[in-house]
Amino acid sequence: TTTKPDISREKSAELFAKAKTYFPGGVNSPVRAFKSVHGTPLFIEKGDGSHIWDADGNEFIDYCGSWGPLILGHNNGKVREKVISVMQNGMSFGAPTALENELAELILKNNKYIQKLRFVSSGTEAVMSAIRLARGYTKRDKILKFEGCYHGHTDSLLVKAGSGLVTFGETSSAGVPKSFADETIVIPLNDEQALEQAFANFKDQIAAVIIEPIPANNGLLLQEKEFLKFLRIICAQNGTLLIFDEVISGFRVGFEGAAGHYQIKPDIITYGKIIGGGLPVGCYGASAEIMGHISPDGGVYQAGTLSGNPVAMAAGIAQLTELLRMGFYRELNNKTQEFTEAIQRFATARNYKFKVFTIGSIFWFAFTDKEAIRSADDIDPASMDKFKKLHRELLNRGIYFGPSGYEVGFISAAHTKIDLEKTKRAIFDSLELVFSN
Ligand code: PMP
Repeated sequence: TTTKPDISREKSAELFAKAKTYFPGGVNSPVRAFKSVHGTPLFIEKGDGSHIWDADGNEFIDYCGSWGPLILGHNNGKVREKVISVMQNGMSFGAPTALENELAELILKNNKYIQKLRFVSSGTEAVMSAIRLARGYTKRDKILKFEGCYHGHTDSLLVKAGSGLVTFGETSSAGVPKSFADETIVIPLNDEQALEQAFANFKDQIAAVIIEPIPANNGLLLQEKEFLKFLRIICAQNGTLLIFDEVISGFRVGFEGAAGHYQIKPDIITYGKIIGGGLPVGCYGASAEIMGHISPDGGVYQAGTLSGNPVAMAAGIAQLTELLRMGFYRELNNKTQEFTEAIQRFATARNYKFKVFTIGSIFWFAFTDKEAIRSADDIDPASMDKFKKLHRELLNRGIYFGPSGYEVGFISAAHTKIDLEKTKRAIFDSLELVFSN
């Protein structure tokens, strides 16, 4: 196997140079800038099924899937047709429409973990609102989060662990007041002792614990069910609300997301990504009692000009309808399992320090020999050099992964056997090169 020549990025480079004059870093969301991998970002022109095409005409099999929403693949016919038909009647009214009821009904009839919900326009907004709801409901201020979980860019959650095991967090972004970070406690994942310590240190002060029950923003840090159960219990004992941030896991590992997968009922759940079929939708939901605290029924204010936007609702309705078809998740998850097992077999046979972690149709490649990676600290930052090399080799073989080794990959219903076979061969060749020197 030999290194492939780099694909042409002439047009992308031209567009990127222009974009840099308009946007900080040339992008409208930082990770897109390809800072941690090789070359300029690819400007995408078209997507269809599992494939995308860039401005230079390069074609790729895509495993980023717009960072998770596209569980049916790109430009799915059912989603597109529904969106177009709804758009014929106008694009926004700022007044209630039947489409909001329709999407809510699809969700609530098939999800036993929430009774009422509110639509917003992004995952960040969903989480921000869920936090305010928890604070308003409990009349407490502090929240607890875990190192290695990402919950969007809301101020109080752009906080990383401070020094010492159970302390106030430190801001992880300029522009977040220290006094905000002081309301956030950060502890490691998978650590029952740290959790107990935090509840002891901040007795009757913690409004909510927020967790990605399937942490997928810092590698895939799969938690043991026992830990999540412990979390559920300790929250209940302390009058603290448990928030599952299911912006990635919701409708991904099953229609009921991680709550359904682990059969654990959190107090509030946030959704995003898949729920909007590729258009901007987020949502938070809880029991009718807790949701009764949201304005205009209750005193917790939350609103949005484009919330429940009819076009976005249409995309969500079309996509979720497909997910409810018999056997949808079984087929998708089996396909993913076969794919990841084949890659692991290859790597193991060659004694590579390489592990594929996976759940549902999410997967993550880790350059490690650890059997499990359950907390952010378990990841060796130096291993990211290997990812960088892998990413370049894969792009040059027509395989598109998210441009960071901390990001997970997604398989969609549109990925065919041929796609996956082609991808496996590209991965085998690329791994050989990555581990050859
Ligand atoms: N929570 C989680 C778990 C996420 O993965 C993300 C986005 N990757 C967010 C919240 C923020 O969502 P958005 O980017 O739509 O604001």
